[in-house]
Amino acid sequence: MKTMEYKGNFIDGEFVLPQGRIDRILSEDPGNLSHPVGEFWVSLEAVRLAVDVAQEAFPKWARRTLKERASFILRFKRVLKARASDLALLISREMGKMVSESRIEIDRLGGKVDQAIHEELKLVESDTHEISRGVVGRLRFRPRGVVAVLSPFNLPAYLGSAQVISALLFGNTVVFKPSELTPFVGQFLASIWKEAGLPRGVFNLVHGGAMVGEALVNHPQVDAVIFTGSWSTGSRIQEQLLNQPHKVCALEMGGKNCAIVLRDADLRCALEETITGAFLTTGQRCNATSRIAVEKPIADQFIDRFLERVDQIKIGYGQNPDAWMGPLVSQKARDKVLSYLELARHEGFQVLREGGEFHADKKGYYLKPSVHFRRGFPELFYHDGSYTDDEIFGPDVAIYEVKNLEEAIRLNNASRYGLVSSVFTKSRPKFEQVLKEAETGLVHWNVGTTRSSGRLPFGGLKRSGNARPAGFFSPYLSTFPIASVERPHPR
Ligand code: NAD
Repeated sequence: MKTMEYKGNFIDGEFVLPQGRIDRILSEDPGNLSHPVGEFWVSLEAVRLAVDVAQEAFPKWARRTLKERASFILRFKRVLKARASDLALLISREMGKMVSESRIEIDRLGGKVDQAIHEELKLVESDTHEISRGVVGRLRFRPRGVVAVLSPFNLPAYLGSAQVISALLFGNTVVFKPSELTPFVGQFLASIWKEAGLPRGVFNLVHGGAMVGEALVNHPQVDAVIFTGSWSTGSRIQEQLLNQPHKVCALEMGGKNCAIVLRDADLRCALEETITGAFLTTGQRCNATSRIAVEKPIADQFIDRFLERVDQIKIGYGQNPDAWMGPLVSQKARDKVLSYLELARHEGFQVLREGGEFHADKKGYYLKPSVHFRRGFPELFYHDGSYTDDEIFGPDVAIYEVKNLEEAIRLNNASRYGLVSSVFTKSRPKFEQVLKEAETGLVHWNVGTTRSSGRLPFGGLKRSGNARPAGFFSPYLSTFPIASVERPHPR
């Protein structure tokens, strides 16, 4: 496979090769290490340039009508659709997931465009009410200014771009920083904005890792930081912004999600959904099922059938149509998972499937799925560096046998994360109990933790995040409300 040409950062409507380079990074194909995707360079100078042009472009872009801005975004969607096959292959090549999953990600991004234009808009419509005779109260929304969007590697097209679309639609300009693990997907997205004819300076992209991210977040002319990524990076960003409290800082972070399977559950449905929840995208999802709490009377049966399904998972290259699960994104990610498998034993988990390296059709960072088991609710190990409660971000799941729903909810809530809970039961009252008591931002019923709807807000509690910048509530992050008390005709 051919190496891709690095065109540079995307600033002021053009790709520009960076001056004052500080680093050179190789983008690997994690599923086929003999053919890297390409190399790129990192420069801090690019951050300053990108923010400057975004700030300059802002007033003119904000003054355009919503309809005009929407027309550019619809053009983005048209180009995206036309180039979807190439983008799907590139996503799979650069981060390792199945091409079919990449296609779903791209379709969802197209859906976000329509939803932002036709539905989310209603959240930030102006509103008027009478206060007293001749005096009215008016609510209006204004764009924030320059929005920095920092995104993770695992949904490199959707995450990031979904926030970019919302920010642009409501009149902001953007500096986007894709993950350093998926720079060429970022470059591809920038080329789509270019082809869509977006005015210069409205969308900009800078490449790099932590240093570039920090420079962007800290830049005084950035008005809002929309971050999706791990808890450790998110908390560092929050620290960096302690002396800039006026900046919006929306953090979408990780999860340690729990699926609760009760004795009256439809087992087939629960199995289907928990297998997908645990191993889709090789477990590299913020909403992956990391824990399954099964009620004792059905635990043995559930586990036997779960393991049967695990043994059928086909591992292979993202473009191999027979495979279902690809590699981990990097050697670091794979080594991290392997180190947690060691920890699981120390924390008293029984090994049902030990995981470990897998030799696939091509040389890459492949791992077998691993499954651990524990009877009862563990009180210990809810700290950094524990298997029990760190986000492992790999093809691993811990099954717990629990006495009843109350114990399952205690287990669910013991985590320092709070993104998704799923409960499998035929009983509505039991679902409603979870709905009331689960300390998570998403609570699903008879569907797995990885399911979501773009027409709902997405985000969590505790270490999982502080806002809802993705999904349906994104306009609230891209705008701020102006409240006016008005007397149009004073005497
Ligand atoms: P990451 O935290 O390593 O990186 C995310 C982004 O932050 C990247 O662009 C990275 O370059 C940048 N970054 C790194 N250090 C930075 C710093 N000091 N300052 C500013 N930016 C910095 O995350 P990742 O490994 O790419 O993605 C996986 C993580 O993302 C998981 O924790 C996953 O749960 C989370 N995630 C959350 C959601 C959600 O919606 N809640 C969705 C997808 C992924």
